[in-house]
Amino acid sequence: MIPYGRQEITEDDIEAVVQVLRSDLITQGPVVPRFEQAVADYCGAGYGVAVNSGTSALHLACLALGLGPGDWLWTSPITFVASANCGLYCGASVDFVDIDPHTYNMSPEALAEKLAVAEQEGRLPKVVVPVHLCGQSCDMAAIRALSDRYGFHIIEDASHAIGGRYKGEPVGCGRYSDITVFSFHPVKIITTAEGGMAVTNDAELAERMDRLRSHGITRDPEQMTREPDGPWYYQQIELGFNYRMTELQAALGLSQLQRLDDYIAQRQALAERYDAALSSLPVVTPWQHPETESAWHLYVVRFSVQQDSHTRRKVFEDLRSTGVGTNVHYIPVHTQPHYQNLGFSHSDFPIAEEFYSNVLTLPLFPTMKEDQQEYIITALSECLA
Ligand SMILES: *Cc1c(COP(=O)(O)O)cnc(C)c1O
Repeated sequence: MIPYGRQEITEDDIEAVVQVLRSDLITQGPVVPRFEQAVADYCGAGYGVAVNSGTSALHLACLALGLGPGDWLWTSPITFVASANCGLYCGASVDFVDIDPHTYNMSPEALAEKLAVAEQEGRLPKVVVPVHLCGQSCDMAAIRALSDRYGFHIIEDASHAIGGRYKGEPVGCGRYSDITVFSFHPVKIITTAEGGMAVTNDAELAERMDRLRSHGITRDPEQMTREPDGPWYYQQIELGFNYRMTELQAALGLSQLQRLDDYIAQRQALAERYDAALSSLPVVTPWQHPETESAWHLYVVRFSVQQDSHTRRKVFEDLRSTGVGTNVHYIPVHTQPHYQNLGFSHSDFPIAEEFYSNVLTLPLFPTMKEDQQEYIITALSECLA
């Protein structure tokens, strides 16, 4: 089966991890800070806080921004559940903003309309989480303009988008948001096995996330409530977690980061070949906003509405049976039973639901061979013939 995404692990990656294994420090040591600095530098951000998953990074970002009971977090319904769950972890309520029918990202128009209503009802969100779906940045300038007007914080969920650019700058530079979050799960652009990072330009937010990833403990006398008892002394000044990244993971991440630009170039070349080859088929290929350069985490095609409603399922099954591991990204979060139990219903976000009913993700990963891609394209053409 050709998977929809997969990691590449080189001999250099293995060597980097083995070096850490042979060293004294395999959890907290010098490599995690080096990885944080390298990712922050790559994005043009001030600080990076490495953690054990993208989900943990989202959770800490919400906590650092003060999200709690009585507050609202809004995100897109077309995302992985973690973009919404992070709000629930904090005891906040979650709501969604429908997507743009061309980019499939959170629609700034829908956001503006929903904010106007929320202002009247006195339930404006404290945090909005735009998700850069498939690696293409959201319209961050428009979302930022709304945040300036309505006063909400922005966490960019860039789990798909490290290496992508918006208006000529790297995703993660922080021009439009408080915090940007990356995931390093193996299907994503670069991997640390499990792992994630939050980047920010705000020293206080970085310090808060740093403390929260390690139990809420500080060794900085400035932060303590009284004089330290001695050099051994630490204080837990708030309730945190063990969300730390290991040295092994950071070594893998640092090694992978050296190939990030190559990966993006390879993904883009594959996407362009798909675009050209699929142009004669009854599918809509991914539309790209001219101000974005996608990291191409996912290549999502949409069946033209003329196709009957069974097309997607049939094509999915036919492709799988010929060894092409297609997938569907994503099932709208508000239709998950956990969210239905919170009061959402199946017709709340019609554009997201229409999108979900008609899309398929084609395999895309940097080590994909030309003949593999040809095979996928031929298989899809035959399914649709
Ligand atoms: C993968 C992903 C996450 C969660 O990342 P993990 O590292 O798996 O915890 C969050 N949001 C989106 C959009 C993702 O794709």
